[in-house]
Amino acid sequence: MTPLPRVVLAEGRDGPARGRHPWVFSGAVASVHDSPADGDEVDVHSHDGSFLARGLYNGRSQIRVRLYAWEPVPLDGAFFARRISEAVALRGNVLRLDHPRGACRVVFSEGDGLSGLTVDRYGSHLCVQLTSLALAMRRDPILQALREALGPESIMLRTEKGVLEEEGLELRDGPMEGTPPTEVVTVREGDLDFGVDLRTGQKTGFYLDQRDNRTRTASYGAGRTVADVCCYSGGFGVTLAAAGASRVVGVDVSRPALELARANAERNAVGERVELVRADAFRWLEGEAAADRTYGMIVLDPPRFARTRRGIPQALRAYQSLNALALRCMERDGILVTCSCSGRVSGDDFTRAVGAAAAATGRHVQILERRGQAADHPVAAGCPESAYLKCLICRVV
Ligand code: SAH
Repeated sequence: MTPLPRVVLAEGRDGPARGRHPWVFSGAVASVHDSPADGDEVDVHSHDGSFLARGLYNGRSQIRVRLYAWEPVPLDGAFFARRISEAVALRGNVLRLDHPRGACRVVFSEGDGLSGLTVDRYGSHLCVQLTSLALAMRRDPILQALREALGPESIMLRTEKGVLEEEGLELRDGPMEGTPPTEVVTVREGDLDFGVDLRTGQKTGFYLDQRDNRTRTASYGAGRTVADVCCYSGGFGVTLAAAGASRVVGVDVSRPALELARANAERNAVGERVELVRADAFRWLEGEAAADRTYGMIVLDPPRFARTRRGIPQALRAYQSLNALALRCMERDGILVTCSCSGRVSGDDFTRAVGAAAAATGRHVQILERRGQAADHPVAAGCPESAYLKCLICRVV
């Protein structure tokens, strides 16, 4: 077999690859041999010439190589099909997320050893996100593997803004297979039904990563007045209303999100107790604080504040100020559920931001539970960035 093109790392820069981190950044690369084309298989070697791992090359991306195997095996269609079927098996046999009308993340990129591929299942429909050029080029074998593993009614492609430029990827969103639903798909989460809009919904349609946090939060909700801030389609708010919250106000800037939330409240027969407000989270909380309106529970689930490492300090300031505003609206003995989905922001830094908000507002905040993403978003032990979601359930005195 002809040897693959080689990527040799700079001296002292092989730690992450040895630790099974799947990203080789351009800055860690000393030299590239035999001119691989974008998307090609390459072997990554350390400075001293020893083999480290095998991956797929992209000369246009900051992530120069994405690693998939730490032994010299071919990264062909059969390899990716095996990885996909292992990922599917985890959700089935192990996690038991196989309700036919249920929704789960079937493939979670780095977490499943498939950096650049995310697949969500909404009942019998799949939503695929390709975030690496090399896997986008292998779209056909990937679709074939998904068809064989799951037999979906349709497969839809969704792409995230920003990624396209980073990877030099050109993809058009839309159906890749079968006929995607023309209407909202209803999926089951616990005892509740949620409508998911696969064509225009945010991300791939529903925030599956928060599934267990919604359920867990519900156990604190009975009898409380709730503010669900950045509510999207009402995941937390509707779950809380169904769990006996006396009143829920859902706040979001997005009109389509609020329409989905309204429909979800009605669908679960809690519409009477759910009010929806279109507003900016910061401004709305400021208004509530100024009017001395308080809540027994506040859920903060803002969008990602830090995309890059450089954005971290600003993101932490935003978390601190958002949490401080929420604390000003908290009843004594209230429950604050505060989340961060910025992978770049560490759990410790996020906790410190919440601590700083507590100090600034003179409130005593007890962290009752430190939670993360649901188990169908597994964390690769060697890739800290794959543990992106933080969710603190706190009592506020
Ligand atoms: N909690 C939700 C997911 C929230 S995603 C669930 O469980 O499904 C983040 C939401 O924040 C999105 O719906 C987005 O529209 C909203 N958002 C973004 N910026 C906002 C802002 N400045 N004020 C209010 N909502 C905002």
